Amino acid sequence: MSELRFDAIVVGGGIVGCTAAYFLAREGRKVAVVERDTLACGTSSKSFAWINGTSKTADENYHRLNARGLAAYCELAVEYGEDALGLNPSGTLSVVQTSDTANYAAAREQARQLAAFGYPAAWVDVHALRRMEPHLNFPDDAEALFAMADHCLDAPKFVQFMAAQVRALGGTVFEGCAAHTLEASDEGQVTGLMTDNGSLKSHSVIVAAGPGTAEVLSTLTGYDGFATRFPLHQVPGLLVSTPSLSPHRRIRHVIYSSISPEIHMLPDFNGGLKIGSDETDGMVTAESSPDHLHNVASILLERVKEHLPEFPGQACLDECTMTLGIRPYPKDGHSLAGPLPGATGLYVIATHSGITLAPALGALMAELITTGRTPEMLKPFTLDRIEGF
Ligand SMILES: Cc1cc2nc3c(=O)[nH]c(=O)nc-3n(C[C@H](O)[C@H](O)[C@H](O)COP(=O)(O)OP(=O)(O)OC[C@H]3O[C@@H](n4cnc5c(N)ncnc54)[C@H](O)[C@@H]3O)c2cc1C
Repeated sequence: MSELRFDAIVVGGGIVGCTAAYFLAREGRKVAVVERDTLACGTSSKSFAWINGTSKTADENYHRLNARGLAAYCELAVEYGEDALGLNPSGTLSVVQTSDTANYAAAREQARQLAAFGYPAAWVDVHALRRMEPHLNFPDDAEALFAMADHCLDAPKFVQFMAAQVRALGGTVFEGCAAHTLEASDEGQVTGLMTDNGSLKSHSVIVAAGPGTAEVLSTLTGYDGFATRFPLHQVPGLLVSTPSLSPHRRIRHVIYSSISPEIHMLPDFNGGLKIGSDETDGMVTAESSPDHLHNVASILLERVKEHLPEFPGQACLDECTMTLGIRPYPKDGHSLAGPLPGATGLYVIATHSGITLAPALGALMAELITTGRTPEMLKPFTLDRIEGF
């Protein structure tokens, strides 16, 4: 295969890689995306895909990065339209009971923080809740934090859209093309990447390999230390997607309910529900057998039935789709994004909440690469905050 030259090469065709490539291409850069398998085959297609800053209030910089992600989707929607992007401006209801004093106090504090950050949210009582979600069963002391600007995303559709824009802007998307070895000069300047399609030349390579980032960095650089020292956990999560519940639209908003049994669900793009729970995530591992996943999925469906009496529960299990996804979870919980010390021109983006954050981090990384300066908003998330990097 003949030599191909690019301004930047992105390793990983998930939401983070394709969105970063899109923002670079928008800046007039000739980019290549190198995807080992097919676009969005990794965590990006196994995600709850709730776009929000609502659940991130503990750290202001991280909240603002997530809020920036949400704002970036709204800007893209103005340009391309929600349907083309796979965006649903659903809003979120985080439901609590006043009698659950610990969760209620936490939710009130969350509302106070969001107001302090200027994030759009309001408190609603049980009467409003029942009007907003007429199919759901709420106890009389239910209340909710309503985050009206939150969205949910058909993430695989969005990834395909970003990739199509990259191509339209003159970039190249290689699928079925694994990245193997980084090429660098004696001075440590990245010069290219050896792939299944031969050598691709560039002075900038961005690794956006999701939960496989540590392993990919080890392979590309030949430095085994990345596999053990890169500060990223892999955290599994199980989601169940139901078939369409037509003719009824059972829920309208993303629902995060701490009312027992704890559940989160969203209106899926096929007219069904996408369902998960932090508690059931604690019951699965990356090695869980299909039988075990089946059992945990049944638990999830029964939980939904307690909130949504008309829902068939585990009776519809055979018609549902189960997905076990692996979260790329940085050890301090916050995104890892920026240059990797040791090789000039090597960058990484590894993050949880990558659905929310992809357009924020992609645009910031494009700015870093095109100007050579680290944008202020990115500074708290670069790798030099981690000891040993
Ligand atoms: C259960 C669950 C629920 C979640 N819920 C949310 C949510 O509600 N909101 C939110 O914002 N985030 C959520 N997340 C997190 C979010 O989905 C991830 O942060 C995001 O999908 C990561 O995207 P990515 O592009 O970095 O990784 P991926 O989508 O995994 O993409 C990485 C790509 O790299 C490719 N690759 C790997 N090695 C190579 C190689 N050597 N050469 C070429 N290509 C390679 C892979 O094939 C893969 O396609 C959730 C995750 C899970 C698992």
